[in-house]
Amino acid sequence: MERYECKTAQAGFAAGRAWVVRPRQMETYRQGDARAEDARLMRAVEEMDRHLAATGKDGSRTDTALMDTERMILNGEEFLGEIRRGIREEGLNAPEAVKKTAGKLCAMLEESGTDYIRERCDDIRGLADGLEALLMDGGSQAPEEACILVADEISPAELLLIGTENIHGILTRSGSPTSHVSVLAGNLGIPYLYGLENILEKISPGDYLILDTEKGAVFVNPAGEAIREAEARQEAMQKKRAAQRAKADTLVTRTAVCANISCAEEAEGAWQAGMDGVGLLRSEFLFLNRQEAPLEDEQFEAYRHAAEAMGGREVVIRTMDIGSDKQAGWLGLPQETNPALGLRGLRVSLAHRELFRTQLRALLRAAAYGEIKIMIPMVASEWELDEAAKEMRLAGEELSRRGERYRVPEMGVMIETPAAVMIAPALAKKAAFFSIGTNDLTQYTLAVDREANDLEPYLDPLHDAVLRMIALTVEAAHANRIRVAVCGELAGDERAIEKLLRLGVDELSVSVSKAARVRSLVAEAEKRSGREGSQAKEQGIFSPAEGEMIPMQEIPDPVFSGGMMGECIGILSTDGKIYAPLSGTVSTVAAAGHAISFRNGSTEILVHVGLDTVKLNGEGFQIHVREGESVEQGQLVMEADLERIRDKGFNPMVIVVRLSAWSE
Ligand code: PEP
Ligand code: MG
Repeated sequence: MERYECKTAQAGFAAGRAWVVRPRQMETYRQGDARAEDARLMRAVEEMDRHLAATGKDGSRTDTALMDTERMILNGEEFLGEIRRGIREEGLNAPEAVKKTAGKLCAMLEESGTDYIRERCDDIRGLADGLEALLMDGGSQAPEEACILVADEISPAELLLIGTENIHGILTRSGSPTSHVSVLAGNLGIPYLYGLENILEKISPGDYLILDTEKGAVFVNPAGEAIREAEARQEAMQKKRAAQRAKADTLVTRTAVCANISCAEEAEGAWQAGMDGVGLLRSEFLFLNRQEAPLEDEQFEAYRHAAEAMGGREVVIRTMDIGSDKQAGWLGLPQETNPALGLRGLRVSLAHRELFRTQLRALLRAAAYGEIKIMIPMVASEWELDEAAKEMRLAGEELSRRGERYRVPEMGVMIETPAAVMIAPALAKKAAFFSIGTNDLTQYTLAVDREANDLEPYLDPLHDAVLRMIALTVEAAHANRIRVAVCGELAGDERAIEKLLRLGVDELSVSVSKAARVRSLVAEAEKRSGREGSQAKEQGIFSPAEGEMIPMQEIPDPVFSGGMMGECIGILSTDGKIYAPLSGTVSTVAAAGHAISFRNGSTEILVHVGLDTVKLNGEGFQIHVREGESVEQGQLVMEADLERIRDKGFNPMVIVVRLSAWSE
């Protein structure tokens, strides 16, 4: 038995036989027998043709038309004739001849520049890739039995193409915990280890593997006894997960626990797991692995399916986040030196307006069938959001003209860039909700490529800088009375859950496989803080004054900035009017009239007007409530004369302190 240390992308335990995906290498030999090479080619062509004919027959109308076109190209003189000529006259081996012909044809067609012709190039490249695969390794077939997928590296598109049904674990050389393929594995509950150098030399197809992320290692070909133990452990774990799920179903938490899903079908799992909604449906997976954009009707059906499966619970659908490592070949995006900093997310949508509008039309139509909300990825500026809102308006107008049934859903913003955090107060005025994508927020805040190998010590989502970004986002959201979720991998990280709750996050969105565990941890954390689910419907805390928000650390008084009173924020009030931050009772009114606190259940908020203003002995403060009085959220409770306070030499900054809700 060999043991190799690896790194964890997705925690878990899996055992089974290795199913190895090898990178294809171009064969460079010079063929000796043109006739044999030609026969080899024709066998692959026949196989491919059979596959295309079968797909066309079983598929949708679009599939059938597409496969007919592909079959015509495959068997046509320009493609097949030219490949055979290359074998015959230039002495090329079959894969080389395929590659050369495809390259030549595409170069020729691309010169004409029309969209239709460009699409044909995609068809040709797709056919050439398929033929090369058949010629070199008999094609990438899906594993028929439970296995552990082993590869040097793997992209999300490849993983989906292979099919994940029988994949119980993944082991690669290259990877990272927040890469998209890791996110996908997490969604599907597949344990994933990476970082094994020379993996394809160390592991052969059919080797028995035990992937154990607790030990951070893979065991290759263990003894029979170890295999029996591993299989028993796997079975016990499956039972435990089912029991955990049953227990979690009975827990109610104040913080919503929602699902991250990658396709509409996964919504059923989210519903069965008792999740509060779908916090993130990554719609881009509808756009990958195909030759053309999904049509409006196909998208509409998928979104509607997700909405209906969640039976009236919220389903947040993110518009396509294509680009970077999620490339849709047919879209022909340019090669970029720094793709994560290039055309991706909303930028792609704004560069391909018709595609974006089609997606929005499909979403608006589906929103008539359930609680769909739309979420926009990779926002960095207000104008981008304005453009997205404009496109949504136009999509609605088009549907009205067509006489279609639709509903305009709420639009939220993903907070994934430091820029979005810094302008969160402005974005919060335009967005219906925020959802923090900590995978990208960590990458962009810490300047660490989330797909890169060997950068884990730097890619730390619990870094103070990232946590502070989250705190600022929550402050801005709550000051503007909108909810804030976390939908990056951090939401399901056991070390982070209580921290996120303390920061005031309203929702955690995690993969379905993590739902039960996260729900229990949230319930425990809420119990410790006195914010149990029984107070689940307790209202949020609203800003008691109008004006610019100042982060806690920047309040010029160490009592507040050092957190001695508790979590707080400052507000530069514009008019000195103070409103009740919650509905409840007035618990104290300071004798000097400069501070009032409010209580509802275990939540107590102190509104303290000015720094050191106790020394004013009530001068400049008009109080409209008494201790013990009931108040309504938003009720005017005090008026402070800001000019007078300043004239007396005091800073009139309003400090809002959360006194008790999170005291331990
Ligand atoms: C994120 O960035 O945290 C996120 C949820 O989006 P994705 O992982 O799909 O980029
Ligand atoms: Mg992201």
